[in-house]
Amino acid sequence: MRLLILGGTTEAIGLGRALAADERFQAVMSLAGRTRYPAAQPLPVRLGGFGGAEGLAEYLTRERIDAVIDATHPFAIQISGNAVAAASATGTQLLTLLRPEWHPLQGDRWTLVATIAEAAQALGAVPSRVLLTVGRGELGPFATAPWHHYVIRSVDPPHPDILPPDACVVTARGPFNEAGEYLLLNEHRIEVLVSKNAGGDATVAKLHAARALGVPVVMVSRPAKPAGDVVASVSAALAWLHDRLPPRGA
Ligand code: NAP
Repeated sequence: MRLLILGGTTEAIGLGRALAADERFQAVMSLAGRTRYPAAQPLPVRLGGFGGAEGLAEYLTRERIDAVIDATHPFAIQISGNAVAAASATGTQLLTLLRPEWHPLQGDRWTLVATIAEAAQALGAVPSRVLLTVGRGELGPFATAPWHHYVIRSVDPPHPDILPPDACVVTARGPFNEAGEYLLLNEHRIEVLVSKNAGGDATVAKLHAARALGVPVVMVSRPAKPAGDVVASVSAALAWLHDRLPPRGA
């Protein structure tokens, strides 16, 4: 079975690892090419955009792809819309692997917002020390609240032109553990954490540390993701794929 995995997540890597060990599948991992040094991948990689839904449809036809697994980040909406359109145009099966979102636990102090711009507004008028973990491409709105001190954590450093005036950058790639996150919040005397509701285990430790320290969280809710069949785990994605394998000897 020839597969295209749309990746960029820990789950895509986990799925790729399982598929690489199974000779019934021939899978390629597609990455947008956003990070300077992408994480090591267990499958052959193709890099960069396809050129919209049409370009993706052409790829699916040319490469005789039997199924697409959209394992992109919950906030990556454009590529998922393209996957739905291209799968429908070419009659290709589509599975969306979407990890469950986070929910507040006892002791959490979350302010829910719908967009990054609302997150910047929610920080308020009193200067605060803010940890931003929203990705280096989403910093623009925080320039409208320049009175805060920002600690920005991202995989690659943001372009200096888009940094708010009082900012310090910490480059790091998850997964993160609670002890490390506790240290980060403490060292920088963080008073509020801004996060997208990405879900999953790789970056949840910041929420545990924030809870332990009583640090409030401005949480950006998930947008609706265009999707095919949806599963929430790598094992469920593998079960979906096994159900679609042609019978042995066929
Ligand atoms: P996006 O807005 O949904 O996609 C923008 C464009 O980037 C797409 O139209 C497509 O270009 C290209 N693209 C995106 N993912 C691709 C993939 N896996 N393979 C090939 N091309 C891809 O995506 P985004 O939010 O910028 O995220 C980009 C990538 O980073 C995603 O793969 C996502 O899994 C990963 N990521 C995103 C976030 C986040 O917060 N958004 C966080 C962690 C990781 P064409 O139209 O030219 O095909």
